[in-house]
Amino acid sequence: MSVLSGIPGNEEKRGLGQVDYADCQSAMPAPLNAGKSYMKQLVIISGKGGTGKTTLAASFAALAENKITCDCDVDAADLHLLLSPRDIKKEVFSGMPRAFIDPDKCNQCGKCVERCRFSAINDFKVDELACEGCGVCQLVCPQGAIDFRENEAGEIFYSQTDYGDFFHARLKPGEPNSGRLVSLLRQKAMELAKQKKVDLILSDGSPGVGCPVIASLSGTDMALIVVEPTLSGEHDLKRVLELTGHFGIKSAVCINKYDINLDNTKRIEKFCKTKGVSVVGHLPYDPIVTRAMVAGKPLVVYEDSGVGNKVKQMWPKVKDLIGDKQ
Ligand code: SF4
Ligand code: SF4
Repeated sequence: MSVLSGIPGNEEKRGLGQVDYADCQSAMPAPLNAGKSYMKQLVIISGKGGTGKTTLAASFAALAENKITCDCDVDAADLHLLLSPRDIKKEVFSGMPRAFIDPDKCNQCGKCVERCRFSAINDFKVDELACEGCGVCQLVCPQGAIDFRENEAGEIFYSQTDYGDFFHARLKPGEPNSGRLVSLLRQKAMELAKQKKVDLILSDGSPGVGCPVIASLSGTDMALIVVEPTLSGEHDLKRVLELTGHFGIKSAVCINKYDINLDNTKRIEKFCKTKGVSVVGHLPYDPIVTRAMVAGKPLVVYEDSGVGNKVKQMWPKVKDLIGDKQ
């Protein structure tokens, strides 16, 4: 394993800051759309967390036939809470290798401590959470006392649910590489989809415009962007549309809680129109959404409701746009 695999500067770029798309893409495994033929991929994303994308993803998982569902929001995975998965298979996700000092070889000269710009070495031991895997300590150690070890960063689960096959993951707190984990999840979903001749992969994507969302979007057929009618929601929508536009991915918008600010809703609709982006759904604010979450059920199966019916009405429009043959 190369000690340079965790080069500083390749850290996850999260939130809505500047993102070097090429940098993120280069960190991904093989192209995710390589060799795809019959299946379509839909990802549900948003500019920030908590806008309702998981509610939509769980409901679409319940409504769609012949699909595989994937929770790509690995930093805050919660789709499993609504789909009640029965785990069939679990795999370890190896993250960035971290430095390890062999105390039998170390003569405590202190060169590594001096040169580690992440202050990750204390008392001649490496702090795993602080180590960025840059390899400088190994280069400067005169005793050859530093090696790199694989690091268990999380777990990947293949599960079955009442709504079909489901891939999800658990990332240890503070672990980077969530973009790589998302790509691995999606690769696994695609492999199974090809085997089972599944029509659709439905993903709950990561929020924001950082590496994990780029990994969620790469090679998908369509992104459904969930936005709330607030000023920050509008700003986030513009950023996310810039991102999907950059990758040439068809986008559609769902305005969640559209009735909390009708002026902002109108402005979002107008903006979408100027960009040629379809607004496929307007969901009203309804406390039943929270009750369905607390009950651990997709909104559309929890109980009959106005907002649930709106989601049901939205699904055929989304299918039409994606060109799904279900
Ligand atoms: S301990 Fe410091 S110098 Fe060594 S790999 Fe980790 S971050 Fe780099
Ligand atoms: S540079 Fe090598 S020998 Fe010196 S303190 Fe670090 S690990 Fe020990």
